[in-house]
Amino acid sequence: MALVEEAWATRFPPPGQGGGFRALRDTGTAGRTGTIIGGSVSSAPRQPLELFAIDGLLSEEERAMRDVVRDFVERRIKPEVADWFEAGTIPARELACEFGELGVLGMHLEGYGCAGTNAVSYGLAAMELEAGDSGIRSLVSVQGSLAMYAIHAFGSEEHKEEWLPGMAKGELIGCFGLTEADFGSNPSGMRTAAKRDGDDWVLDGSKMWITNGTVADVAIVWAQTDDGIRGFVVPTDTPGFSAREIHKKLSLRASVTAELVFDGVRLPNSAMLPGVRGLKGPLACLNEARFGIAYGTLGAARDCLETALSYAIDREQFDKPIAGYQMTQQKFADMTLELGKGMLLAIHLGRLKDAHAITPEQVSLGKLNNARESLAIARECRSILGGNGITLEYPVIRHMNNLESVFTYEGTNEMHTLIIGQALTGIPAFR
Ligand SMILES: Cc1cc2nc3c(=O)[nH]c(=O)nc-3n(C[C@H](O)[C@H](O)[C@H](O)COP(=O)(O)OP(=O)(O)OC[C@H]3O[C@@H](n4cnc5c(N)ncnc54)[C@H](O)[C@@H]3O)c2cc1C
Repeated sequence: MALVEEAWATRFPPPGQGGGFRALRDTGTAGRTGTIIGGSVSSAPRQPLELFAIDGLLSEEERAMRDVVRDFVERRIKPEVADWFEAGTIPARELACEFGELGVLGMHLEGYGCAGTNAVSYGLAAMELEAGDSGIRSLVSVQGSLAMYAIHAFGSEEHKEEWLPGMAKGELIGCFGLTEADFGSNPSGMRTAAKRDGDDWVLDGSKMWITNGTVADVAIVWAQTDDGIRGFVVPTDTPGFSAREIHKKLSLRASVTAELVFDGVRLPNSAMLPGVRGLKGPLACLNEARFGIAYGTLGAARDCLETALSYAIDREQFDKPIAGYQMTQQKFADMTLELGKGMLLAIHLGRLKDAHAITPEQVSLGKLNNARESLAIARECRSILGGNGITLEYPVIRHMNNLESVFTYEGTNEMHTLIIGQALTGIPAFR
């Protein structure tokens, strides 16, 4: 049993038997305040999220699972990720199997070897993974929230049985092809098309910027058909399928990004995802991933802030630590506020998702705010590190560059602004 699944199964009862909010209440952790409340403020440095007493909002099970993932990231990812980033390559297959053992691949899905945790736990795992690196979190998100989720939500029973157990173990890697070179923010214009030929489908076209593209065993490909946009489960060894890695990236370098080309890819009728028709299929998958990003980005921001705090306490200029200057403290106070507010928003969204009450507009609130503020925090922390801030000796510029991609993918800042604008006014302003 995977580590995360074990933590969940042994500590967290099934729904209706004391899980969720009841478990929070029973373990006495709900509303628990930090030691600082009501007492005098200690002069010992405190970590930003401690000030918000965030742990008191999490159940014992959620904290246990978060700690399992945090420990893995500290041991396995942080010591090596700067080298992977510099080399522009990751041991994707090896890592996928380790993530499978950890239990984070499709961890919020039920059955087929998935851990079946709640949404908050999935978010916290994304946060810890992204405290390691956004590229590493992307590998896990694309696998679980895009590729596995698409099969889980919209696939046939045969699709689920064929792919999900191996993907949960990390023995099989998935990718998700929606974006095309000429259609990013507006995927409805996609040109990739699947045409009927007897009982088969024949797929032609290309997809751009596809995470995990060259290492994937299976691609979920969205294509135009006579019946509107449909999703296809495409084994990557099908003749006519090829993938080319995109190089010269200065962001998400510890992640595989690729172009996919389909040149007369012949697929059986059963390759089509039967459960959804139209753009709402890929958008539902993106919603899952965007939810994880609302948490994940905060992990990168937290790592930047903790690094900058410890640096500023040690670094002396004009015979005193730069952390002792009021302007530096103002930066730390402002960043801590944004990090804490982002965390409260993420937890609120997680509770809504666990209650099956979350809307796409609410996910947009989380993605927009937390990607934007995390990027701002990373940039500010980079400046606090001065010249040292531009090297890979510290994680900050790596997180900063990564967050530029996260700011753009899964819906740009502007797209989420327009989604929120439409929710507020009732007027779509996309065109
Ligand atoms: C590292 C990385 C990994 C990715 N992984 C995947 C993946 O696995 N699968 C996948 O399918 N895609 C993936 N993407 C693609 C990503 O989702 C797109 O890059 C994103 O949707 C933006 O599309 P675009 O790059 O074509 O930019 P464009 O759509 O050309 O946008 C450029 C700019 O114009 C703005 N803009 C566009 N339309 C409007 C408008 N109506 N009003 C105001 N502003 C507007 C945008 O907000 C943006 O600022 C990835 C991208 C990156 C960088």
